[in-house]
Formats: sequence, structure tokens, C-alpha cells
Amino acid sequence: MVAAGVAALGAGAKAAVIGPAIGPCCYEVGDEVATLFDADLTVERKLDLWSAAERALRGAGVETVERVDLCTRCHPELFFSHRRSGRARGVQGVLGAVA
Ligand SMILES: [Zn+2]
Repeated sequence: MVAAGVAALGAGAKAAVIGPAIGPCCYEVGDEVATLFDADLTVERKLDLWSAAERALRGAGVETVERVDLCTRCHPELFFSHRRSGRARGVQGVLGAVA
């Protein structure tokens, strides 16, 4: 999905920001999920989704990647979290463009 999104942007320098998401502190996964990612991204059953996203972006040719590194589960005062609240939660999203 990341590679397809980057390819859709066409030629030219690209930059990305990895926004708030569940962090490696809280994202416990089973083997069926962990095996979808490089082995070093899962430590003690916790997946580092932030680094997985950065790796995918850089692999797709994005030169500049900034990371917020804020865990949505650890910061209930700032974000919704499916892992914390279950289905009864809100959503957050960001749209951006540089002209
Ligand atoms: Zn956390």
C-alpha cells in the first residue's frame, strides 16, 4: 500500500510524515501478523509499526521521513485508540498537500 501511494505521486523528491499510531510499547501481535514484517521489527511480541512504516517509505523511494513517535494508546488525552477503547471510539486523520 505504501509503495502504491508513493508511486501515484509520480517523479520528484518526496517527503513523508509518520503520524501518531499505536507504538511498539503497546502493539502486541501474534505470529500471523509478525511474520508479515521484517523479523527485527517485533520484540517480545510487540511490533514497531512506526519503523515498519519508515522502512516501507524509504524502500519506496521517499528521501525524507519524519516521525512523530506518539503512541495513540498511551495518550488518551490526545488521541482515539481502538486498542484502548474497542469499537466505541472516534477516528483521526490528516490530509495535507504542498503546492
Ligand atoms: Zn503505547
